[in-house]
Amino acid sequence: MSGLEIEGLRKAFGSTPVLRDVSFEAAAGSFVVIVGPSGCGKTTLLRSLAGLETVDRGAIRLDGRDISDLTPAARNIAMVFQNYALYPTKSVRENIAFGLRQRRTPRAEIARRIADACEALQIGHLLDRRPSQLSGGQRQRVAIGRAMVRDPALFLFDEPLSNLDAGLRNDLRIEIKRIHNKMGTISVFVTHDQLEAMSLADILVVMRDGRIEQIGAPYDVFRKPVNKFVAGFIGTPAMHFLAAHVEDGHAVLGGGSRVEIPSLAAVPNSTLVEIGVRPDDVSLVGQESGAIAGLVDVTQELGTNRLVRVNTVAGELSVLQSAHEPRPAGPVGVRLSPQRALVFLRPSGEILG
Ligand code: ATP
Repeated sequence: MSGLEIEGLRKAFGSTPVLRDVSFEAAAGSFVVIVGPSGCGKTTLLRSLAGLETVDRGAIRLDGRDISDLTPAARNIAMVFQNYALYPTKSVRENIAFGLRQRRTPRAEIARRIADACEALQIGHLLDRRPSQLSGGQRQRVAIGRAMVRDPALFLFDEPLSNLDAGLRNDLRIEIKRIHNKMGTISVFVTHDQLEAMSLADILVVMRDGRIEQIGAPYDVFRKPVNKFVAGFIGTPAMHFLAAHVEDGHAVLGGGSRVEIPSLAAVPNSTLVEIGVRPDDVSLVGQESGAIAGLVDVTQELGTNRLVRVNTVAGELSVLQSAHEPRPAGPVGVRLSPQRALVFLRPSGEILG
């Protein structure tokens, strides 16, 4: 197939397995984002794709060609690192042109590609400077430009925006997506940032402990996580979990509140579950019957919205409300949206249904 195919990758450092049977496919032009907790193997996976690590087992195919045993240089893959990795003694122009010169690309072609990169990344005025004379954002633009001019078959990004402040991150994120759309090359992007992952990905890959937990379109992973780990990992502000047991199609929560949840209709009584609730799937109501009783703990103003942390009899919950609503305090009631609530089995954490 055209595109990227990763099949059964395994890699251990000494006796510690770091990649345990990692497989996925990405069609031509896809933007793949890999997220997961620190140490789950994201960087090792990228470095394995680039040929900077040798895998113990498995295959990497790019446009139908097995590249697993090729040297990094022969793979035609460009990687952008968090720390820019520019040559400090070379000018921006030389940094960008270096790989092309090594491949004996004709001068006129090098000039044309540098001009394209300058236009896409607004770095034309920086060409004669050294990396030490650039800001972090400018350095990363140059590093992206250097990757871009190589016209690679695959772009790899290892947390390229993590050293930048929020505004700059957003600008560069948009530029990366624009360049990706224009070039149509597959990108594989590692990040810790939820928003970045959701906003960039066509395909979101969630890893844990060397394995892929879930892979899918970002919204599908957000709305239909396969287990409690993915549900808790994806989404900001994070999902809350309330322990419950099942009784006649209802979740009976701590404190005795009962919530009828459609997906529990056929579940045997006494089954132990956890109810996953996102802050935008709950609302504050008065202390009416049927609502979960609680006390407002902390409120955080987020601009358009407000996040209200409530200690309820069933556990801690966060409620996202419009900043236009009156700021709540003291005793409140919280109502769940039964259609939106996710049910996870205890203790496995697998989603029900
Ligand atoms: P982070 O989000 O913190 O960057 P990560 O998901 O990218 O983490 P990796 O850098 O791939 O994780 O590391 C995965 C595991 O492999 C970690 O436990 C790490 O300590 C270990 N590891 C990485 N490189 C080596 C190495 N060269 N030798 C031994 N262990 C290593």
